[in-house]
Amino acid sequence: MAEILIQNADTVLTMDDARRVLHGADVLIRGGQIAAVGQGLETSGETVSGRGCVVTPGLVNTHHHLYQNLTRAVPGAQDALLFGWLQRLYPVWAQFTPDEMFVSAQLGLAELALSGCTLSSDHLYLYPNGSRLEDTIHAARDVGLRFHPTRGAMSIGESDGGLPPDSLVEDEQAILDDMIRVVDAFHDPAEGSMCRVGLAPCSPFSVSRELMRDAALLARDKGVMLHTHLAENDEDIAYSQAQFGCRPGQYAEELGWTGDDVWHAHCVKLDVQEIDLFARTRTGVAHCPCSNCRLGSGIAPVRAMRDAGVPVGLGVDGSASNDMASLSAEARQAMLLQRVANGADAMSAYETLEIATRGGADVLGRPDCGRLEPGKRADIAIWDTTGIASSGSWDPAALLLAGPTQVKHLFVEGKQIIRGGELATLDLPRLIERHGQLAQRLMQ
Ligand SMILES: [Zn+2]
Repeated sequence: MAEILIQNADTVLTMDDARRVLHGADVLIRGGQIAAVGQGLETSGETVSGRGCVVTPGLVNTHHHLYQNLTRAVPGAQDALLFGWLQRLYPVWAQFTPDEMFVSAQLGLAELALSGCTLSSDHLYLYPNGSRLEDTIHAARDVGLRFHPTRGAMSIGESDGGLPPDSLVEDEQAILDDMIRVVDAFHDPAEGSMCRVGLAPCSPFSVSRELMRDAALLARDKGVMLHTHLAENDEDIAYSQAQFGCRPGQYAEELGWTGDDVWHAHCVKLDVQEIDLFARTRTGVAHCPCSNCRLGSGIAPVRAMRDAGVPVGLGVDGSASNDMASLSAEARQAMLLQRVANGADAMSAYETLEIATRGGADVLGRPDCGRLEPGKRADIAIWDTTGIASSGSWDPAALLLAGPTQVKHLFVEGKQIIRGGELATLDLPRLIERHGQLAQRLMQ
């Protein structure tokens, strides 16, 4: 089996159970796995210099809407609150075809890879004009990222009192049928899997109670994970109390939406009881600090969640509400926001990087990822700390305080995706050009 040796790294942040930090260390990749981590390792295969670099597990993105890369910084949605923002964008998204889904996913995943991400989930909840989940799965294969697409859904359109136009919602039986189709066709439960499918009704306010319940039953039957948006802002809580007579946490619990096979995006407004519920049930949270800031939703109680034992990962969220998809920038924002809420000692750069790597992998049910130790998958980010961003840093491994926001090299399942700061799997300038043309067309 092919070997690659990352040699003589200044620092290796292993994120293993002991959270070991090694200096002058090597990482040996064999096939898709990490074979060894330590000093003085040897290989007859390829070597990659780690000198002047910090090596970390690849970052894990637990929440995204890749298709939204085509609707960044849309006038009229730039300064709107969540519900108004959705109403501005729905008619644009209704024009998407499989081509838009494919190209935007390629671009979004490439952008993530450059920022150190090796594993990303995606939440695709609208399927206009023949779009299908596999449009994004094919894109991920081309870019080379490990991918957890989720089959999202909306079923309550304007004529039923919902927010989305009727053209963007689907019949609930058709949704369930397609969920079964994509799980059967694309979900790989094996260790080292490059593609795992999840089920993900968009939010409690865009599908019926019955679909939430049925999706949970189907997920348990198929052995796949569940994902949705929950408790994102005050409007969200008010809607839950008005429509369901309870808070989002209770609604989720009643419908089977808690457990270690469930993760919810945002959870900005979880109260003490809901945090306790999530901790007891090991229900995961995708924390999306840039999106929460962008939409003015608030500061998620990540410190309290972590202290209670809630699994927390990071998500860049869709590019229409971020509007960048840099996971390293997202991690820095997560660290800063907890400090705004709780003080300068509330979250260290190292703890935040742990949330961004191992934390996210655990949220997605991937204990085989997110740490650098023998037997784990070879998903590795190499950060050059000889550049301007790290210059003068007394602790270059504190990457989120002073460090590069893009990687020098990136490996996924032992394959090099970024080489010398460049995407190695696709012609990026051509992709950007094509993506720009599609965005132009949507503006007309
Ligand atoms: Zn989202």
